[in-house]
Amino acid sequence: MRIVLLGPPGAGKGTQAKLLEERFGIPQISTGDILRQAVQDGTPLGMQAKQCMDRGELVPDSVIIDIVAARLAAEDCRDGFLLDGFPRTVAQAEAFDAMLQRRQLALDATVDLHVPRAELIERLSGRRTCRQCGHMFHLRFDPPSKQNVCDECGGVLYQRDDDCEETIAARMEVYERQTAPLREYFRDKGLLREVDGSRDSGEVFAQILHRLLPAG
Ligand code: ADP
Ligand code: ADP
Ligand code: ZN
Repeated sequence: MRIVLLGPPGAGKGTQAKLLEERFGIPQISTGDILRQAVQDGTPLGMQAKQCMDRGELVPDSVIIDIVAARLAAEDCRDGFLLDGFPRTVAQAEAFDAMLQRRQLALDATVDLHVPRAELIERLSGRRTCRQCGHMFHLRFDPPSKQNVCDECGGVLYQRDDDCEETIAARMEVYERQTAPLREYFRDKGLLREVDGSRDSGEVFAQILHRLLPAG
């Protein structure tokens, strides 16, 4: 199964990716996670990416395309993968198409999560992530049992730098301008599967499965 998860910041792509990864045994490839790791490691890529990320802007296409091409060539992607946060521009989508064609592979579906803007903002401002294992929480919708401590591993929770009010607004705008046109792009290919992402995450997951496996 080869799936793309589309949707604005806060739509629940990361949350659903984890559930899909478990269900289908395919790796989640999150370009945001790869970039945040590079920032944390202080690599040249990380230093370049951080400037864009802190402004809520996209990292240049050529940089992201190279990262994804290298990642998709790895052994664990042989039987499928789940892209979370890529493609985000038409140029990235076209480069992705070329990568698939070169290997004679086809994408199965693009899941497009729809969530009202007010809900997105609330989700992003309450998002907390475990520094150690990456598990995600939400202060209101999925709070940790002990403040700032991960229930899974005891690690410390942090708030992403770009989940502050101004950067959230910038990211929403970037999404509308640069990423939303991809809906049309995938719709034209007959791959777009629109899902109401405003329900609780279990219901959203059930909807996604229904759209991916209509017969099952
Ligand atoms: P969100 O949770 O808001 O959807 P991500 O974790 O996917 O955010 O991305 C965080 C930031 O990383 C983006 O605002 C952008 O700066 C950068 N980024 C992630 N994926 C891409 C991509 N495919 N192209 C360009 N920039 C990206
Ligand atoms: P994205 O990867 O699209 O930016 P995330 O999966 O990181 O979105 O979710 C953003 C925040 O919203 C996280 O704190 C997460 O716990 C919470 N969240 C995710 N899905 C739901 C949902 N269906 N209902 C309520 N909160 C959710
Ligand atoms: Zn943890």
